[in-house]
Amino acid sequence: MSVVKTRSKRILVAGGAGFLGSHLCERLVSEGHEVLCVDNYFTGRRANVDRMHNHARFELMRHDVTFPLYVEVDEIYNLACPASPVHYQFDPVQTTKTSVHGAINMLGLAKRLRAKILQASTSEVYGDPTVHPQKESYWGNVNPVGFRACYDEGKRCAETLFFDYYRQHQLRIKVMRIFNTYGPRMHPNDGRVVSNFIVQALRNEPITIYGDGSQTRSFCYVDDLIDGMIRLMNSDDDMTGPVNIGNPNEFTIKELAEQVIALTGSRSELVYRELPQDDPTQRQPDISLARKGLGWEPTIELEEGLTKTIDYFDHLLKSDDYR
Ligand code: NAD
Ligand code: UDP
Ligand code: UDP
Repeated sequence: MSVVKTRSKRILVAGGAGFLGSHLCERLVSEGHEVLCVDNYFTGRRANVDRMHNHARFELMRHDVTFPLYVEVDEIYNLACPASPVHYQFDPVQTTKTSVHGAINMLGLAKRLRAKILQASTSEVYGDPTVHPQKESYWGNVNPVGFRACYDEGKRCAETLFFDYYRQHQLRIKVMRIFNTYGPRMHPNDGRVVSNFIVQALRNEPITIYGDGSQTRSFCYVDDLIDGMIRLMNSDDDMTGPVNIGNPNEFTIKELAEQVIALTGSRSELVYRELPQDDPTQRQPDISLARKGLGWEPTIELEEGLTKTIDYFDHLLKSDDYR
């Protein structure tokens, strides 16, 4: 049996009590690292990280990244920011502050410590893309004054800050553009499409399709995404990104609804609601850079990932923990 030893690092995960953050914390602790999870619980929950609560290498801190943070770590993953359109549009000014002031504080911390830092950026930097599939070299098509701008422009500005700290202060940076990711521990009221459809289907309630359901997304299962994130952080220093991480298999929203109904055996009907402003019509990552530079590609296809996620929500909705 071969034993691979990795040097134990002190790692900060900002936004660590959220959906992706909690999976990341768990992976890093299981790899032998010390993890400091920082979160203001805006969309995250302590319950997401409960199973690690008593772990000797895990520490949880309530903190808002728009305020300075003085701690000692070797690496920083910056995931702090609401990701669901419903939640990021609830207090749009705070969303921009979280992306921009949060990035400045995390970068200032990384600069003082000479720590490596990864930014959880997003396919939303491409806006409603006119190029398909989206490559990292595409500059995007974002409405700067629309309802999604607080998130899209906030994330674009954060990318700018990362590259300016890289050029001006020689920081070691990693910018990851995450495409729609789903899986266990999404909040039942998260508002994003996969959790909405699964919860509606399990309750035999109408499935709400915005617009005519012909818009597309490409859905990545959380385990694949976290694998890509850790590979990017551990890659050579010249691999700064931006790099797309997502699953290139593209589906219409109507196809997603039909698949969820088939997998749950639900009696739900499809109902059509108004399409939100600036809702991107198509989205699919070109992942050639991740394949070549990180040796990464997704391994879990939609049916398998949805089955695991449905199982999670089925247990959750029946349990006492659900609130
Ligand atoms: P999430 O909402 O579950 O997690 C975000 C976490 O950040 C939550 O725990 C929230 O409480 C915390 N947070 C928000 N504002 C904060 C602040 N000011 N200070 C400290 N903590 C704060 O969403 P997620 O899906 O886990 O997304 C994590 C990151 O990945 C986000 O930055 C998001 O923009 C990015 N991302 C996610 C997806 C996806 O499909 N899941 C796609 C693109 C980008
Ligand atoms: N900062 C922080 N922790 C640190 C160092 C800095 O939160 O350990 C914050 C602080 O609020 C600062 C910001 O990061 O304003 C940017 O830091 P930088 O050193 O780049 O700029 P300056 O201190 O000159 O504003
Ligand atoms: N959507 C939908 N019904 C819902 C939630 C979302 O039809 O209950 C659509 C939404 O309009 C968008 C797509 O599903 O076209 C993905 O939405 P989500 O909020 O998950 O993420 P986005 O990629 O838009 O940020």
